[in-house]
Amino acid sequence: MAATDGVTSKELLEAQSHLWNHIFSFINSLSLKCALELGLFDAINNYKKPIPLNELAKTLSIPDARLQNFERFLRLLVHNGFLSQTSTDASIDSYTLTTNSVPLIKEKGQSITPFIELMLDETLLNPWQSLSAWFKTETPSTAFEMFHGTFIWEATGKMPEFGKLMREGLGSDSQSIIKVIMEDCGELFEGVKSLVEVAGGTGTMALRIKEKFPEVKCTVLDLPHMINAMEKSDQVEYVAGDMFEFIPPADMLILKWVCHGWSDEACITLLKRCKEAIPTQENGGKAIIIDKVMNTTDEIHPKLTETQLHFDIHMMVHTTGKQRTEKEWKKLFDEAGFKGYKIIPALGLRSIIEIYH
Ligand code: SAH
Repeated sequence: MAATDGVTSKELLEAQSHLWNHIFSFINSLSLKCALELGLFDAINNYKKPIPLNELAKTLSIPDARLQNFERFLRLLVHNGFLSQTSTDASIDSYTLTTNSVPLIKEKGQSITPFIELMLDETLLNPWQSLSAWFKTETPSTAFEMFHGTFIWEATGKMPEFGKLMREGLGSDSQSIIKVIMEDCGELFEGVKSLVEVAGGTGTMALRIKEKFPEVKCTVLDLPHMINAMEKSDQVEYVAGDMFEFIPPADMLILKWVCHGWSDEACITLLKRCKEAIPTQENGGKAIIIDKVMNTTDEIHPKLTETQLHFDIHMMVHTTGKQRTEKEWKKLFDEAGFKGYKIIPALGLRSIIEIYH
């Protein structure tokens, strides 16, 4: 029987609302983007108590003529769990932040706003226009390249504004998780005398580690155009190079969000270079991969599976990589010659994978 046979009108209406929900899903992302552009969350945070609508509009320079539109916009953010609404008296609605909006506040020093700005920038949204055409061709390797005419890691050099967004966006993500890693998994750094943040972007993790463990020699390796463009610190060493060719030797390597951007074949080459750069396990060598392990992370969010699938397709559109299950990760480690691994599911949707040979 075909799926369309015997479908009742009630079922068709349900299908229609299912579709509408999907058609308009982008409104969730883009209203978040708009709220960040307006400086909404910081304004509410700075007020230090529930902020009345009029006051919030005034702080954000929203004219009276737009007040009703603005209130409707806030209603969506309340529904989406980024604000809560309180009535201070019968007539005045006021707004406060929720736990979900804490990572958006600059004052806390751990704002992931630059990461959201990167993810929702048109440079990353536009390649979706090329996705169906990309499916029907064998080259180029990504829809990003089909749209922009250049591979994403070259684009960060050829399109300087995008390069800046990338550095700031990924840097803000590193800033937010390195604190958790050092606080909850400090034993990872025991006995480590030197480390390299491989494809480290701004090297934010290496910098924070150096602050906490000044005796550790920290190095950041990335492509020459990234290293040349970034703000540098004299606390860490910067190496401009190609990680598929050579990785400076160290006791510990850190690869955050690196492997998920590359094919299995490329990852195996990269992991072989990693193996050459570190001592054996007995001599204190290890590489730390910070990435997702599909389906094994604790259920910390009701939409976990959807988020994992979205991330996987995000990587497919922009890079040659993918999200991997434990079995897929193990295959890479085996083929690159590592003798063992340990998954530490300490970072919410992501895990720390320690590998050694
Ligand atoms: N680890 C950082 C950056 C991840 S993005 C973080 O999570 O914040 C991937 C990084 O890989 C980019 O900074 C990009 O410039 C770098 N990269 C891409 N190809 C590379 C190569 N062949 N050698 C070294 N770095 C590379």
